[in-house]
Amino acid sequence: MTNVIATFSAKLKKIDGDMKAKAAVAIKIGTKRKLTSGEIAMSQLVFKDSIDYSKVWIHLGGLIHTRTGNAMTPAGEIYLPKDDYLKITDFSIAKPNVRHWFIHEMTHVWQYQMGATNGWLGIKQLCNGGYTSEVNSVDSGQNELKAYDTDLMGRDLNKKFQDFNFEQQGRIIEFWFDAIYLQKISPSRAHHQKSLKLLGYVEKILRDFLLNPKDKSLLPKA
Ligand SMILES: [Zn+2]
Repeated sequence: MTNVIATFSAKLKKIDGDMKAKAAVAIKIGTKRKLTSGEIAMSQLVFKDSIDYSKVWIHLGGLIHTRTGNAMTPAGEIYLPKDDYLKITDFSIAKPNVRHWFIHEMTHVWQYQMGATNGWLGIKQLCNGGYTSEVNSVDSGQNELKAYDTDLMGRDLNKKFQDFNFEQQGRIIEFWFDAIYLQKISPSRAHHQKSLKLLGYVEKILRDFLLNPKDKSLLPKA
């Protein structure tokens, strides 16, 4: 009898230990993290020192953009879908499409830290159907959400960077980043080819931004 109890209590202890170990792992994963040094270095290629990188958190879940399954960066902090949060521990060594996606989200961090109210701009986009209506986008292909749509060689030819909405700004910076910095990683990618085709137009739009990313007059008005 004593033996049975001893075995039983040993089993209980083991279960307890396992649960504690699992809880410890959960705590270790956490629900937010800071940028890695690689992510900061990658962002500096675009935003230089216009962003205070120490203030940027990457969060698990939260305000996920359900329509696109994308990330959401409403107040200078990035919220990722759970799978992405757990899988991508360093965007600077991720696949090329994931890297330029990260730079897109960092554009929202830049907008926020420079003084744009992205939460409010996002709500305005929602009201305008920006996240719900799909269009055939010249630059991004079929079934693109209206908020992200650009036509840099046509309709948008004479626009300045500040004339684009906050999602389009993210897209334009993605094109530039892909064309310049992701040349060596599977260059046959459709997004990279598009970025190369648009590069001259994108550089013209980004001229002031690239010279001085701290220029607040470049923030989106819509
Ligand atoms: Zn965005």
